Amino acid sequence: MGCNKCKSKAVITLQHGSLCKNHFISYFEDKVFKTINKFRLIERNEKICVATSGGKDSLTVLYLTKKYLEKYNIKNDFFALAIDEGISNYREKTLNNLKEFCKQQKIQLHIASFEEDFSSTLDQAIPKLNKKTKRNQCNICGVWRRYLLNKYAKKLSATKVITGHNLDDEAQVILMNTFKANTKLAGRLGPISGTHEHEHFIQRVKPLYFCSDKEVKLYTLLKDFKVQYAECPYSKDGYRNHIQEMLNSFENRFKGTKQGIINSYLALLPLLKETDKDLEIKSCQICNEPANQNICNACKLKGEIEKCLM
Ligand code: SF4
Ligand SMILES: [Zn+2]
Ligand SMILES: [Zn+2]
Repeated sequence: MGCNKCKSKAVITLQHGSLCKNHFISYFEDKVFKTINKFRLIERNEKICVATSGGKDSLTVLYLTKKYLEKYNIKNDFFALAIDEGISNYREKTLNNLKEFCKQQKIQLHIASFEEDFSSTLDQAIPKLNKKTKRNQCNICGVWRRYLLNKYAKKLSATKVITGHNLDDEAQVILMNTFKANTKLAGRLGPISGTHEHEHFIQRVKPLYFCSDKEVKLYTLLKDFKVQYAECPYSKDGYRNHIQEMLNSFENRFKGTKQGIINSYLALLPLLKETDKDLEIKSCQICNEPANQNICNACKLKGEIEKCLM
């Protein structure tokens, strides 16, 4: 099949037609830059922290943040921040790719870890917490990762955190929140995360918001990024994995399903943000980071592990 624009060999067929390598790369980069401009995800004079893991999404968003700043001649400082959860046979490989990538691209990289801040790797925490409280591994991982991202971005004086969440990630979380009736969390998604400003909370933004998983994967292949495509070993057991399988099967049968979920969500988002307005954000009594209750979720988890050791 030929590219709709130049008749060269097509590498992908999208809803609006087929594209060759060069036209797909321009289409993809253009879509990311338009998202940044439309939602004002990057503004001048900000210090930007790009949350990275060395996976396909985060390398793409890191590379395109650099390209965007160069294209628009924006002199903002920016750096990459990775969190080492301590997942054996997985994270060290992606972190090695990330270190190599940052060296090639001359991007400053900082790495924080669960072990250093919580005295426990994810591998060590899961059996203890599972036994005690039946917590899901991705729940533990997510709470600690978000916590460290905010903490270290702030420590390194960032005013904005860029993440690599893509359209598939977002559609999955929208469905998860709906299926689990997490109505309190409903208004916190979108290209700009959260509903509240807080002196200790750094705003998180998602330039890959309208890019599907398939598009991001193809972009990294065509750009020849060194990427580990294998999934995290814990992802298979998660609730999210079932949602992902269901959504993929729906998308295969009914093209545009994921985009439809995103579009419906964005239409409702102003209302959802309005309903979340009264929620009070406190400071954790132990660590002073933002929290919904007196003690933040990250400190609660750490406390649960300490109790297991008693
Ligand atoms: S799949 Fe779950 S455990 Fe693995 S990195 Fe993602 S959130 Fe963490
Ligand atoms: Zn073409
Ligand atoms: Zn805390």
